[in-house]
Amino acid sequence: MATIDRAADRTERVVAGLPKVSLHCHLIGSVEATTVVDLARKHGVVIEGGRTAEDLFDHDSYEDLDEFLRVLDVAGSVIRDADDFHRVAYESLTAGGAAHNVLYREIFLSPPGHPGVPYRTILDGVRAGMRDAEADTGIRSNLIVGLNRNGSAQAAYELVETVIENRADEVLGIGLDYSEAIGPPERFWKAFRRAGEAGLNRTAHSESGPPHHIETLLDLLGCTRVDHGYHVVDDPAITRRCVEERIPFTCTPVSSDIGRYSGSGDGTHLRIKQMVDAGLMVTIDSDDPPMFGTDPTNDFRALANALGYGLDELSALTANAVEATWLDETDRAALRRRARAMTAALAEEEEETPWRKS
Ligand SMILES: [Zn+2]
Repeated sequence: MATIDRAADRTERVVAGLPKVSLHCHLIGSVEATTVVDLARKHGVVIEGGRTAEDLFDHDSYEDLDEFLRVLDVAGSVIRDADDFHRVAYESLTAGGAAHNVLYREIFLSPPGHPGVPYRTILDGVRAGMRDAEADTGIRSNLIVGLNRNGSAQAAYELVETVIENRADEVLGIGLDYSEAIGPPERFWKAFRRAGEAGLNRTAHSESGPPHHIETLLDLLGCTRVDHGYHVVDDPAITRRCVEERIPFTCTPVSSDIGRYSGSGDGTHLRIKQMVDAGLMVTIDSDDPPMFGTDPTNDFRALANALGYGLDELSALTANAVEATWLDETDRAALRRRARAMTAALAEEEEETPWRKS
């Protein structure tokens, strides 16, 4: 029993101390339930079904992606003014980021998830939150604007135009999220082409879709990253190509396991293991953390427990994420140095842990 406890303690030290780089975390999805309830009260919004902070994010009750997206809509609808965006960004980056040793995050914004709110209001509020979070904790961040694939191709194109008209240094690129079954990637080729012409980086979600969607992302949409991408391993040729081209995959173990995309919903994370074993460039993040009862540390814990990964394997996932960022080479090198120094310090602590010598 004592051995098991010591092994668990060791895992805890490693997953908590591990430096993390967050490339797949949605602003709306990272808002705490208590904040949603506070903001609803502030704006006089009655939450459907009279749900409270305790039962708002009951992930066991998400029947399917649509059920989850309805919860996401509730959260998005109460984040309305610049102060709200400041608060949500700040909380996500501090308690939901720096407290877990997240050194850097590229945050997904979903402007269509805040109906009626001007893009500029979102941007101004979030950027103020990012600045304050960096001043208080040192966490750095940038932004990715997510297009809603449940909406029309025209709406997605117009959002890209809005992003270009309101150019901000922090907005490094665009993404594509919401339901892949409703919005196949090829529908959005014009919006992605426009983004590419304007020099924006591109990524897109492919969580439930077949492997050929990944080819569509790379070849038609010009993506340099894939969010989730678990079905890549169903096609050996596409897997080989992604290994050779070092295409990063931003995997989110806990949320995807609950949705039965990365495994069978049993916490074995089989597809992520297959991706790592195939030599793919896997990175780890937590997607919509409070809504799936997780956090940046817990997603690494899930892999440590399911796959027996220790510091070497987990720090390799962070090293992948450093290389997968859209930072320029100077900033990426600085991030790489910080992550390596923290990993080395953690390895040293591991060496000095007395029980290992007994
Ligand atoms: Zn996502």
